[in-house]
Amino acid sequence: MNVPSIKNVKNLRGKRVLVRADFNVPIKNGQIQDDFKIIKGLATIRYLAQKGAKVVIISHLGRPTGFDAKLSLRPIAKRIAILLGKDVPVVSGNSVLSGISPRAEGDIVMLENIRFLPGEEKNDRATIQMLGALADIFVLDGFGVSHRAAASVSGVAGFLPHYAGLLLSEEIEGLNRVMEHPTKPLVVVLGGAKMETKIPVLKKLLPLADYILLGGGMVNTYLWAKGRDVGCSLVDKEFKKEALLYGGKKKVIFPVDVVVGEKNGRRAQVMPIDYKFPSYAKAPEDRQILNSKFGIYDIGPKTVKLYAEYLKKANTIVWNGAMGFFEQPPYQYGTYAVAQLIATRAKGNAFGVCGGGETVEVLKKLQILDDIDLVSTGGGAMLEFLSGKKLPGIEALRKK
Ligand code: ADP
Ligand code: MG
Repeated sequence: MNVPSIKNVKNLRGKRVLVRADFNVPIKNGQIQDDFKIIKGLATIRYLAQKGAKVVIISHLGRPTGFDAKLSLRPIAKRIAILLGKDVPVVSGNSVLSGISPRAEGDIVMLENIRFLPGEEKNDRATIQMLGALADIFVLDGFGVSHRAAASVSGVAGFLPHYAGLLLSEEIEGLNRVMEHPTKPLVVVLGGAKMETKIPVLKKLLPLADYILLGGGMVNTYLWAKGRDVGCSLVDKEFKKEALLYGGKKKVIFPVDVVVGEKNGRRAQVMPIDYKFPSYAKAPEDRQILNSKFGIYDIGPKTVKLYAEYLKKANTIVWNGAMGFFEQPPYQYGTYAVAQLIATRAKGNAFGVCGGGETVEVLKKLQILDDIDLVSTGGGAMLEFLSGKKLPGIEALRKK
């Protein structure tokens, strides 16, 4: 997939460049809780400023309906100003229209939360035109928003010469490497909760991958679909058909043991799973989860060992989704172990790609972010990309 990069634009001096970033970061009482996306997005802004461009940053924060002081981008602009060592004033859409824009080469301003404008998510023409009037060049850098058909994402790209920023290019290249020419074996690790976003990935990557290792809610759903008793485990009943279809594939590997217990972490114990047990009868181990207070909350130690064998041989690894309810001890072991295995392998020979809100949280907690070749800043967008879907923001950049 070819997407024009801002690196290929020769003369940026004095040019007004609109950068759509994704600085939608968690903020509590005005304090940024996690600046991962800001740090990642800074490369493009720094690059443009150094080349003498006049930079206008656009981002959204949260899901406002109209103006909401709590969702102002000011704390984010302040953080960027500190990191870059230069002023980054925040301007509202109206003041930009009345002429407050970066004046000198290398100046940076930030538009106030673009979702304060109702036309942003509606992708309406007036908003697109207003944004288009602000600049000579449009740069999409926020991979995390590239799956949105919004005015500041795909809309304005149709109005101005358009390029991918450094971060977006890096993400696309990394994901293309997986999708187009992965160094084999390719091992995909899928867990987490939201089945509707994982099943399309499973479907798309199945022909490409050598193995798909499963954890999290998908395992429970598969067991339930096979007629097994899963107590109060997290199950997505809407995906019974898909669970049975993809769960039955040879390349799809399931845990051989799981951790069963109460949701609050009490009375947890490891339990083997015998998949050969006929689905019309309850397996002996099911008796232990018949009690509706119990559920499956993690993969077990034998499964970690089994998955390690696959991961150790992998030359490309894709990971999304926790192996269990890792937020509640003792259910973190499976997820943490798999994360460490992936990081170790990615630090060495394998090319490792990870993404997803909770997945990245785990990497951060274990301080192994830097061991992974590509940690995606876009959870939802990454899953859509890996599902083979066309992302409106990226498609808009590919159009002449
Ligand atoms: P990501 O954000 O990394 O894409 P998801 O949002 O799909 O992943 O799911 C992550 C969540 O799934 C985690 O908060 C984790 O607690 C939950 N989870 C995974 N396995 C289980 C399980 N067996 N039971 C309950 N919750 C689980
Ligand atoms: Mg999530």
